[in-house]
Amino acid sequence: MIETTTINFGMVNAFLIKGENGFILIDTGIPPLISKLEKELRKAGCTKDDLKLVIITHGDMDHVGNAITLREKYNAKIAIHEADYPMVRDGKPLKRAATGFIWKLMSRAGEKPGDPNPAFEVDLFLTDGQRLDEFGLAARIIHTPGHTPGSISILTDDGQLFCGDIFANRRSPSLAPLIENSEQILASLQKIKQAQPKIIFPGHGKPFFGVALEDIKA
Ligand SMILES: [Zn+2]
Repeated sequence: MIETTTINFGMVNAFLIKGENGFILIDTGIPPLISKLEKELRKAGCTKDDLKLVIITHGDMDHVGNAITLREKYNAKIAIHEADYPMVRDGKPLKRAATGFIWKLMSRAGEKPGDPNPAFEVDLFLTDGQRLDEFGLAARIIHTPGHTPGSISILTDDGQLFCGDIFANRRSPSLAPLIENSEQILASLQKIKQAQPKIIFPGHGKPFFGVALEDIKA
């Protein structure tokens, strides 16, 4: 089993994976919690030159917040899907319709649509089907748009799926409460079902088993 650590920031998760020649971090949390992130990296034995890659599942602030610091301090490469690149290049959050109820949910989850993004450059783009073996990780990228245009999931060969905000699991597994394109998110749900992940780690909430995908409705 590929060794993964969930870094729980309270309102959002990041994930640290031990690869064959260093560590891969999936998402970065929010800037006020950088010390918590660094503590977790230290605890896992990830020092300055060991962080090989930072994968951003999508361009929302609570996922990209510490990317700049990680690049500066750890010399880590930052990777994102091209379709979300403008969100970080320009530091502009994506505008999505959110109802009052959804707004409240997202605020509680630490993700307020409209929070400013930090602006930064990235080192590489990830595309659908791309393998991560060159970074020491037996896994591939699945482009799963719908929450944002460039949302990606990472599926390890042993069946662990890191899905960003396509799904959340607060009380029960569900589609993202904040949807940019509902047709796309349903197509992404189908795509993920076909990939048959064993366990799914969402950006918000607890992990859940792949069989629970059958109960997720539009
Ligand atoms: Zn998001």
